[in-house]
Amino acid sequence: MKVLIVGGGGREHAIAASVSKSPKVDKIYCAPGNAGIGQLAECVPVGAMEFDKIVAFAKENDIDLTIVGMDDPLVGGLVDELDRAGLRAFGPKKNAAILEGSKAFSKDLMKKYNIPTAGYENFDEAKAALSYLEGLDTGDFPIVLKADGLALGKGVLICETLEEARDGVRTIMLDKQFGSAGNKLVVEEFMTGREVSVLSFVDGKTVKTMTSAQDHKRAMDGDTGLNTGGMGTFSPSPFYTKEVDEFCREYVYQATVDAMAAEGREFKGIIFFGLMLTEKGPRVLEYNARFGDPEAQVVLPRMKNDIIEVMEACIDGRLDEIDLQFEDNAAVCVVLASDGYPVKYEKGFVIRGLEHFDGKEGYYCFHAGTKQTDEGIVTDGGRVLGVTAKGRDLKEARANAYKAVEWVLFDNKYMRHDIGKAIDEVPKEMG
Ligand code: AMP
Repeated sequence: MKVLIVGGGGREHAIAASVSKSPKVDKIYCAPGNAGIGQLAECVPVGAMEFDKIVAFAKENDIDLTIVGMDDPLVGGLVDELDRAGLRAFGPKKNAAILEGSKAFSKDLMKKYNIPTAGYENFDEAKAALSYLEGLDTGDFPIVLKADGLALGKGVLICETLEEARDGVRTIMLDKQFGSAGNKLVVEEFMTGREVSVLSFVDGKTVKTMTSAQDHKRAMDGDTGLNTGGMGTFSPSPFYTKEVDEFCREYVYQATVDAMAAEGREFKGIIFFGLMLTEKGPRVLEYNARFGDPEAQVVLPRMKNDIIEVMEACIDGRLDEIDLQFEDNAAVCVVLASDGYPVKYEKGFVIRGLEHFDGKEGYYCFHAGTKQTDEGIVTDGGRVLGVTAKGRDLKEARANAYKAVEWVLFDNKYMRHDIGKAIDEVPKEMG
């Protein structure tokens, strides 16, 4: 088979690494890819939103399967375009990717089908949102404001006071800081609890969940500082207990897939369930219609199945035949970023030591912001690399990951030192 992967981050590198293990695959292309992916695949200089070029490339090169890993092309309808051209693609069509593309849609869906989530109101106009906020009691704060559309994970504002909420409405709906994503607004009840991510394969009717993961979004140790695209992840999450799993199987996963089908929006691809484990039980924080970038880097290395077989089963509606299996171990991913990320940082520094990962069982170095130059591979973004290591348990995986990050050297290298540390707080009976 010839496979084309659309995207060029750590997630796509992790997908490419899994695809490269499939005995069914002869050749991998990636559009646009990156320096690390280039070691496994032929990178094609085509952007993920250049639909015409992607379709033309897939046709000309007899691509058997195109895997769309990113939210923007999925929400924009790339899978529909490929399908119209008679090409096989993995990922939801536009009418299903709306599950991620519109938070107002996903909230209404959860309400209609009784899927547990935070209370909310949707607004089309700033005036109505403001008057709703004015009518709240002080006890209703903090309150959460969410831009409806895709906003690079930045469209969520947690507002402590009415003043902050007023500013937030202005930022999202009037100043349009997140562009057209702010045409609608979701005002949501604030919840507290631990967050867990569960990725799943979906074939339109059957859903098979992968092992759980947890990410660290904040830039600095102790989960402080600004929100980022993710500074590290670990898998499995010890907080994702059997009870939580049973609850979500009964009330969240299948219910979501059935709800989409009932709405005439058959979902095939990956659903990412962002959950918050509140005192009242698990609640859905968000849905994504694709692998989470940092989560893919700890979940996929632990998957035993041939990813191509699973993806083809999703497309053909026979996921029920697949026995999805994960290794009985753990993985930790530490992101190596450029100092100053997510605000201001320099690029173009040569990266040394990448060869340490060659052929080392259980260690991975996924590229995010890197570029191949005449001088070698250089830094080319805020989040540069994701260093993943496996271990028998989370403690060992964490020790291995923090050993491996020392193999890689570049100027202004920055990382958090406490990825997966929450696991030390886990009561013994859970861990
Ligand atoms: P989202 O993109 O909707 O997952 O939101 C991004 C982050 O904002 C989440 O991972 C949470 O940390 C936080 N968040 C979102 N919604 C809520 C909520 N209702 N209560 C508390 N925190 C939230």
